[in-house]
Amino acid sequence: MKQNLLDFDAHGLAAYLTEMGEKPFRARQLMRWIYKVGESDFAAMTDIAASLRNKMLQVAEIRPPTIMREAVSEDGTCKWLLDVGVGNAVETVYIPEETRGTLCVSTQAGCALDCSFCSTGKQGFNRNLSVAEIIGQLWWANHQLGKNAEGNWPISNVVMMGMGEPLLNFDNTVSALRLMLDDHGYGLSRRRVTVSTSGIVPAMDRLREECPVALAISLHAPNDALRDVLVPINQKYPLKQLLAACNRYLEKAPRDFVTFEYVMLDGINDSEQQARELLRLVRDVPCKFNLIPFNPFPQSPYRRAKPDAIQRFRDILIQGGITTTLRKTRGDDIDAACGQLAGQVQDKTKRTMQRIVQI
Ligand code: SAH
Ligand code: SF4
Repeated sequence: MKQNLLDFDAHGLAAYLTEMGEKPFRARQLMRWIYKVGESDFAAMTDIAASLRNKMLQVAEIRPPTIMREAVSEDGTCKWLLDVGVGNAVETVYIPEETRGTLCVSTQAGCALDCSFCSTGKQGFNRNLSVAEIIGQLWWANHQLGKNAEGNWPISNVVMMGMGEPLLNFDNTVSALRLMLDDHGYGLSRRRVTVSTSGIVPAMDRLREECPVALAISLHAPNDALRDVLVPINQKYPLKQLLAACNRYLEKAPRDFVTFEYVMLDGINDSEQQARELLRLVRDVPCKFNLIPFNPFPQSPYRRAKPDAIQRFRDILIQGGITTTLRKTRGDDIDAACGQLAGQVQDKTKRTMQRIVQI
């Protein structure tokens, strides 16, 4: 089988080429072709010695994931369903805005963490995506959308908020992050790349050391009793530990705040009293809030919070001095909104969360 070069970060590619008797600087040359130009055909890489191109044609390839389906929303949001083998598929979503283009990337086929309001969690877990499958989402989307009038790729921001828990696929996620940040890769600023996590505390500490980028935390509840139910990994890493890890992360983060994501569920976590409890909870963490109206999916047990409840909740946080935004729902006509990404997952683990909490 040919080696897919999308599976290497800069360091890995240099090591691979050295092993083949090539000079490590060839890695930079190749990366520029792959990521800056968006080329997947070695024959077109004209400034690379013909002997190396021929060798590459024999043993290597640049292969993004296969696309099974594309959907385009009325608001311009695009969703692609990517085949990740043996009946599994994941989704990647492009959200165009006036001043930026954001890609929402998946990191796992399914998710083991079983949050009660999340469609991906309800699918169960199959496997981690490879580096090529993660960075390939960006490669593919840029390739498909094409460069803009200024000659730049349209994707300026990446959020790891698609299917899966990025910090439970740590090594592959970090290699893909490095390719996004690398000057010979996509050269994105650390502030424009966000990892969203349900709160895997030890992995947050590792990310801080190995590849600090902007951080979003899926908070969703103002106390442990409710968070234990909505985000079961809270039973293993409760709020006190999570918030302490946020402050440690901020020592090295490219931004001086974390973003707390808070999905608004009718009658569950949207009361004024809970907003005030939340203010007390996050008192010591520099943060912003992003309120997400719940997006329903088939058989979901919750309803979206009422607009006036969301408004009141938001006002209380703002009066408490916290910058709070309300996430606009984008692409819901194509089931591309937060938490609606279902893809196709053959669960081979069955209710994995039970096991994770016990470990
Ligand atoms: N596993 C990571 C990243 C993927 S989920 C995490 O949990 O952070 C991305 C975001 O979508 C999270 O904040 C998640 O809580 C939110 N989300 C999940 N299901 C949702 C739903 N049905 N409606 C709105 N937001 C949802
Ligand atoms: Fe997994 Fe995130 Fe969904 Fe929870 S919200 S089940 S951690 S993808």
